[in-house]
Amino acid sequence: MMNDQHKTLISILGGGESGVGAAILAQKEGFEVFVSDFGTIKDQYKQKLNRYKIPFEEGQHTKEKILASKEVIKSPGIPDSIALIKEIKENGIPVIDEIEFAFRYSDATIIAITGSNGKTTTTTLTHHIFSTGNYNVGLAGNIGFSFAEQVATQAHTYYILELSSFQLDNIHSFQPQIAMLLNITPDHMDRYNYQLENYINAKLRIIRNQTEKNDFIYNDEDENLLDVLGRTKVLPRTHPIKRGNFDGRFLSIGKSQFDTQTFCLKGEHNMFNTTCAITAAKIVGVPDEIIQRAMDTFVNVPHRLEVVATLDDVQYINDSKATNVDATYYALKAQTKSIVWIVGGTDKGNDYSPLISQVEDKVKAIICLGKDNTKLLEVFSPIIKIIEETQSATEAVQRAKIYAEAGDVVLLSPACASFDLFKNYEHRGDCFKEAVLHLKS
Ligand code: ADP
Repeated sequence: MMNDQHKTLISILGGGESGVGAAILAQKEGFEVFVSDFGTIKDQYKQKLNRYKIPFEEGQHTKEKILASKEVIKSPGIPDSIALIKEIKENGIPVIDEIEFAFRYSDATIIAITGSNGKTTTTTLTHHIFSTGNYNVGLAGNIGFSFAEQVATQAHTYYILELSSFQLDNIHSFQPQIAMLLNITPDHMDRYNYQLENYINAKLRIIRNQTEKNDFIYNDEDENLLDVLGRTKVLPRTHPIKRGNFDGRFLSIGKSQFDTQTFCLKGEHNMFNTTCAITAAKIVGVPDEIIQRAMDTFVNVPHRLEVVATLDDVQYINDSKATNVDATYYALKAQTKSIVWIVGGTDKGNDYSPLISQVEDKVKAIICLGKDNTKLLEVFSPIIKIIEETQSATEAVQRAKIYAEAGDVVLLSPACASFDLFKNYEHRGDCFKEAVLHLKS
């Protein structure tokens, strides 16, 4: 009942992009709203909350207030396992994600994209195809601006949503018209009790509310996914996608052919991502000419196989976002030249064996960029003669330059998280780029 304060209070845990967006939408929909963040809230978000006169706290969670809520919207960064979340649930208060909340107030056509790798690339490409066709489209989820805030303030007709498994953990009635599941490789195992099954189930929540009227685009060559799909009732129309029908220049999808000559995305994995994005666009009815124009004008987000510079005929590529083995596998596979490979960082329990054949074929020298490189040295020193260690991006680039000859590639594709030496993967990529640009001068 809207006049009962306790029943209409919605508490929001986490005062970041998604939490503040959810707060704005909840306020617009007539709820009493309270934002609580155990850490500090960034100034830009505090200013926004103040502008909307939304009460908030930081550095603490006032439990009594939160437990008086009708519903709690939780930032995907907060694990379900913490005591407060457990207590909220024990009190019978539903815990939901911002995506779930915003979905209730949106009648847009939603294309939701998840997977272990390739989400951002595929989401931004799909969004670019729709914008090129002048569709009224928003980009949200794990990327860009909050879905909830967009629903509250500008309501697009289409949304392309990038969804992480953490967001999917707390969706209940969310039903995208088109769902996309790109791949499943072990990641974030610490949040899933080290059970791959739990992680796969989280990803599959993307189709749990879909009906026969919806569409599901998925990787038809992903063993983890195929295994679980074989045991799952799948209601939506299915669009199984294989590697991508690519002849080196033209990408064929159904009866259509797309020229990739000026397309910035390279490599088998990106042809797969592109095939998924185009399949979604074609389901909605985007014409081929628009799709081709979008491919010709697409600029990928930084830190994903990003060509930084070519110096003395050596190409320097920043793939800092490759924070797991699978992403690095595709980065190595995408190269046709000899590689000086910069790798390492915080190892997340990596198994490097899938990389061995690519490394044997193409890598001439390895520069380890991490605090603890034991495992890398163990796996790769028997097969690669030149293998060095460093703890600075500048030194890594300088060392790489010594081994790279005209026609080679220097590839930063770490297969590891960045937190041992850097703030995050963007910082690592930026340090690499700076070091490369410094070589120029
Ligand atoms: P995400 O948002 O899922 O992390 P990104 O598009 O940011 O995905 O890409 C992350 C890393 O994974 C990059 O190094 C990129 O080159 C690589 N990658 C992109 N698409 C795929 C794919 N389909 N399979 C494996 N790796 C991929």
